[in-house]
Amino acid sequence: MIGSVGFWVAADAWPSLRAARLAPDELRALARRRLARVLRGAAETVFNRRRFDAAGFGGDSRMLDSRPEQVLGALAPAGKAELRAAGRDVLAGGRVRPDWRWSSSSGSTGEPFRVYYDPRAWATLKILVKLRARRACGVRPSDRVALLDAVPPAGAGSDPAARVARISILQPAAEVAAELAAHCPDIVYGLPSALLEAGQALRARGVRLGARLVFTSGELLRPAVRQAIAAAFDARVFDVYGSSETKEIAWECPAGGMHVNADVVRLEVLDDAGLPVAEGTEGNLVATLLVNRAMPLIRYRIGDRGSLLAGRCGCGHPFPLMGVVTGRGADVLVLAGGRRVSPYALTCAMEQVGDVLRYQVTQLEPARLRVRAILDPGADRNRIAGRIRSVMRGQVAHFLETDVEFVDRLPTGPRAKFRVVEPLSLLEHA
Ligand SMILES: [Zn+2]
Repeated sequence: MIGSVGFWVAADAWPSLRAARLAPDELRALARRRLARVLRGAAETVFNRRRFDAAGFGGDSRMLDSRPEQVLGALAPAGKAELRAAGRDVLAGGRVRPDWRWSSSSGSTGEPFRVYYDPRAWATLKILVKLRARRACGVRPSDRVALLDAVPPAGAGSDPAARVARISILQPAAEVAAELAAHCPDIVYGLPSALLEAGQALRARGVRLGARLVFTSGELLRPAVRQAIAAAFDARVFDVYGSSETKEIAWECPAGGMHVNADVVRLEVLDDAGLPVAEGTEGNLVATLLVNRAMPLIRYRIGDRGSLLAGRCGCGHPFPLMGVVTGRGADVLVLAGGRRVSPYALTCAMEQVGDVLRYQVTQLEPARLRVRAILDPGADRNRIAGRIRSVMRGQVAHFLETDVEFVDRLPTGPRAKFRVVEPLSLLEHA
């Protein structure tokens, strides 16, 4: 593999754009060829070789070429913990090369985890696939961009003339709003929770930003929050789904479809036993990166739950569709008596309460929850508290006790990420 990231951006720009114009069966054929190639590369790494052996595909490279999906489907999924424990055995050639890029993330344990990318994969995953998707949503190269990010505040060091501004969300929302107003962006990116707070602060100052488009990622985007962000910024809101390890997996198009970048990532939905579920059914999301050879991510358990959808989108893109990502798999609550409850059950119940702008559900004990909520102005607190207790008992579990608190701000976790649902197990591991 030769060439810098810049070289590969130029070399692969046209093929990347062209993939968006393929017919669905052509796109599947491209993905299949890439899958066979990435599996051949993965078989050269110690960690993945063990997985192939365990699945009974020892040295059979013909099988990789002729039936890559079948080989892939026989491999046990692997998560962050297994990859981290494997150390250098996950790397092509068993060592980090100087031209590789990397991303670091931390799980609920707080231990960092690095994924390495060769320059060509980085060019595709970090630049070309994003450009392609943003372009489809109306982003233009000349647009001024504001990124709301969990970085230290730039203070006086920021450059007011720069086209792209990175604005720290680790400062009060009023400061974020002031920096946004000073930058006059056409496009704003951020976590839904950060955008919502910044949008409310902008409104409180009476500022109309004039941004055209807002892109959200990193947290579940609930319908009420989407509407509130769209209203506060007076802009169209598009959601993007990805993870720090895989980069962008899917993006929302102007017709409202959530398109999977199937030419660079193969997304599967598996049940708790590791078997594929039917389209439209929620399960654990498992991703295989089709373009990264430095550190092959093969059937990587992302830790989120979601679904794949049948059918095509009205916009004409060939990329397949996925449903809403409903939450982190780790967020499943174990209630008294061992009953497991999806975070989705809790958010569905809360959506019915009404007049709640944002909330967070925390499991305090096996049969006790705490709901912290930010209400619409003028909402009737007593009525809403009673309604929250009743939906939790009626729709989640009849024995649940719920403490309700009304607040002005909700706390965020590592990297300022906000968790809608916090199970008891999280508190115990904290
Ligand atoms: Zn579409």
